[in-house]
Amino acid sequence: MIDLKSMLPAELEDFLKGLGQPKFRAKQLFSWLSKGATSFEEMSNIPKSLGEKLSAECYINSLKLLKKQVSAIDGTIKYLWELRDGNAIETVLMRYEHGNTVCISSQVGCRQGCAFCASTIGGLVRNLTASEMLDEVLFSQLDSGERISNIVIMGIGEPLDNYDNVIRFLRLVNHPEGLNIGMRHISLSTCGLIEGMDALAEEDLQITLAVSLHAPDDETRSTLMPANRRCGVDELVAACIRYFERTGRRISFEYSMINNVNDSTVQAEKLAKIALKIGAHINLIPLNHVEEREFAPSSKENLRSFCRVLESKGANYTIRRKLGGDVDASCGQLRRKREKAQMRGEELK
Ligand code: SAH
Repeated sequence: MIDLKSMLPAELEDFLKGLGQPKFRAKQLFSWLSKGATSFEEMSNIPKSLGEKLSAECYINSLKLLKKQVSAIDGTIKYLWELRDGNAIETVLMRYEHGNTVCISSQVGCRQGCAFCASTIGGLVRNLTASEMLDEVLFSQLDSGERISNIVIMGIGEPLDNYDNVIRFLRLVNHPEGLNIGMRHISLSTCGLIEGMDALAEEDLQITLAVSLHAPDDETRSTLMPANRRCGVDELVAACIRYFERTGRRISFEYSMINNVNDSTVQAEKLAKIALKIGAHINLIPLNHVEEREFAPSSKENLRSFCRVLESKGANYTIRRKLGGDVDASCGQLRRKREKAQMRGEELK
């Protein structure tokens, strides 16, 4: 079956032309798909005969809501969606002053193996299609009734390990006749897959690239993030410089603060040096405790001395505000809960 919703308007046009359809049909179809239509019957300006032909060959992707948790603290919504093949993924809707942001997943599971992350525990199941990622945005918008203005690709999965589909998704969601979300309102987070970063730089998109650094030295970073064993910190920093030079877009570093692992003042000095060298912004993230992992968030004292060093060096940093703490809103936790319930033969409560 053809995944109609992953097609860009120009591709739809070609496809429909092959079915003997005029150009404007592609526009009509794309507009219905972007509004969340789930059947051809509801597309009032699409002839019945064409609808029948299309349903024989194509499917319209949609997501089934499995679970929705709304934070009593800050209104953050965590969605657990079921995909067509029964797999589950998570999307988080966060409310910021600058607008509603969704954090979307890019894969079912993940194969990067970061030691502190819940998404990678069961490994990679499969890549998400462009339409599945698009639907994370679309269905969150439809369910909440509020316009989504920003996207961060920081949910389950490594986006640069699903490169083609992610680029396709970006072009779809950015399309003026679709959801029309500006590239400058989209951030993509990577654990540092260098080939992907270089390729992304060539796409000429205005998105923000966030790099999960989490440690400024190879010894620590390789224990936390297996990706670093293939390409160390120096190579990663060189790739960040190339990205910045090619795109003119500042990189931002994510740095999850793990008690007595990556939060020493020596590490703060190294981090500041790297960030200053490439003009990167540092996003300090309080570590979220994951049941299966032994790591703890940095103590207040460690955090304070770490920040003091960053400040004294003139590095640009912020501490990420914690949203949705009461709704399992971080990386893979809700999907993990469902998996565990399934293993026990229970329904997710
Ligand atoms: N694969 C992408 C997106 C992953 S999630 C990447 O690696 O960047 C977004 C961010 O959350 C990443 O920086 C990731 O390293 C971080 N993260 C994962 N688990 C975490 C946890 N338990 N606590 C804090 N940050 C975590």
